[in-house]
Amino acid sequence: MYDKNNVFFKILQKEIPSEIVYEDEVCMAFRDINPAAKIHVLVITKGCYVNFADFVENESAENVQKFFKSVAHVAEKLGVRESGYRILSNTGRDAGQEVEHFHVHILGGERL
Ligand code: 5GP
Repeated sequence: MYDKNNVFFKILQKEIPSEIVYEDEVCMAFRDINPAAKIHVLVITKGCYVNFADFVENESAENVQKFFKSVAHVAEKLGVRESGYRILSNTGRDAGQEVEHFHVHILGGERL
């Protein structure tokens, strides 16, 4: 079950500052505080979903599509479309998911 007491909900509410690189009606994208690559951006949903499964099962098909199109748009905006990048979403305990608000990592800017 989604718990609003998580850091990404507070970032979404702008209660906690972040370096926002893009925002639209379905997502917010900001730089990871502890980057694992030269470019490391997190794209989070505006809706409250715990993880990938929760998001795709419970969000409208239209908004799921919009979200993933926005992820591609953010990668383009970051200038990594041609050079390449990795997207990943940790889901649950075995993946080591730290923050229980659905998000996609975009990693790039160097050979991973
Ligand atoms: P995950 O939940 O997919 O394992 O990873 C959560 C990510 O959020 C980590 O890469 C971590 O560095 C990042 N993170 C955690 N707290 C904050 C924060 O307060 N601000 C920002 N910008 N990133 C954060």
